[in-house]
Amino acid sequence: MDWSKLAGKRVFIETFGCTANIGDEMRMRAILKERGCELVKHERDADVLIVNTCIVTKRTELNVLKRLRELKRFQDESNGKKRIIVAGCMPAALPELVREVLGDSAEMLTPSELGDELSLDFSGVIGIVPIAQGCVCRCKYCIVKLARGNLRSFNAEKIREAVASLLRRGAKEIRITAQDCSAYGWDFNASSVRLPQLLRMLTSLRGDFRIRVGMMNPFTMLPLLDDILDAFTSEKVFKFFHVPVQSGSDKVLRDMNRCYKVADFVEIVDKIRSMFEYCTISTDFIIGYPTETWEDFLASLRLLERVRAEKVNITRFSPRPGTDAAKLKDMLEREKKRRSRIFSEAYRRIAYEQNKALEGRIFEVLVTERGKKGGVVARDPAYRTVILKDEIPLGSFCDVRVREARSTYLLGEVLATGE
Ligand code: SF4
Repeated sequence: MDWSKLAGKRVFIETFGCTANIGDEMRMRAILKERGCELVKHERDADVLIVNTCIVTKRTELNVLKRLRELKRFQDESNGKKRIIVAGCMPAALPELVREVLGDSAEMLTPSELGDELSLDFSGVIGIVPIAQGCVCRCKYCIVKLARGNLRSFNAEKIREAVASLLRRGAKEIRITAQDCSAYGWDFNASSVRLPQLLRMLTSLRGDFRIRVGMMNPFTMLPLLDDILDAFTSEKVFKFFHVPVQSGSDKVLRDMNRCYKVADFVEIVDKIRSMFEYCTISTDFIIGYPTETWEDFLASLRLLERVRAEKVNITRFSPRPGTDAAKLKDMLEREKKRRSRIFSEAYRRIAYEQNKALEGRIFEVLVTERGKKGGVVARDPAYRTVILKDEIPLGSFCDVRVREARSTYLLGEVLATGE
């Protein structure tokens, strides 16, 4: 990608998908700003339209294609004056879909072409820092592997400097992200930096800030578990553990090639809960995997009840092109819908009960975003969402009492100092 050709242009960037993809947007924004580009908020004001795509499920793929068609019309109306650059996972794994909409001369930018420089743009008080691309696994359903490839960890010193730079510019929440954060450094030689050491490098930076660690695969987390949890004891690390399990059935985990057992996941959760009285377990379940029997589904429900995760991302299986799982006979959509409805109900009940138990508790929170309906959004030490009516400056720490619980957030009241 010859970025100099975009020098001084007005650029509009739109990102679909995960935090890692938003991290790539922050890298592109920094590269563009270094070349004197103006980042504009609306496509009509732009010379260049960058669409940072996601293809993790069929639904996101269709949303992206719908958006590309809209922007293509825009481009045509500008008699081709507006350039469209398609970035993210679609150019890397499904470039033919981009050409179907934008033609053979479609401009594409794959994630690996962003290189390993880590200058990052950010807005508000939240900085997003990619620590690696790709992963060490080959999950049978995963198209991200085809897009992001094998693990390439970024240099630890560059990550530390990127975080220090964000803190100097006013960031208060740092989200470190990757396809698998606990695989960090597995591609370096044996003696070098892994996730625990990286976290200690970051928490030793001066200032009052908090780090949210992105998802960690049980397969790469287990061998480093004690050291990872020790690094999480720093006050600067949110006690938020995103550990995707995907199924409660060992047979289905084998079929997915996830390389761990349900018991490994339970061991991880139990150890976290024994070390951190107040924490958030966030996990992911795929519902309706082709080989999932009703019994396997019930095993996933039992696992949810067993670990009582406070946050669960529920995805209905959708066959992704080029993956092994796409060759399997797919389950009827209505059966997937029926199972994920049952699963969502169980999750919401558990999440509400977990939050309900917090009513009346007092926490120090970090204010990170403006509320959609006024007020602000804050994060407590376990990264729970706390909604406050008060207009408090972003980046402030304050003490709050949990006034009322909802299944996915808490309503809080700010305490006068010393109350
Ligand atoms: S760990 Fe598995 S699910 Fe995650 S990106 Fe890698 S292959 Fe995909």
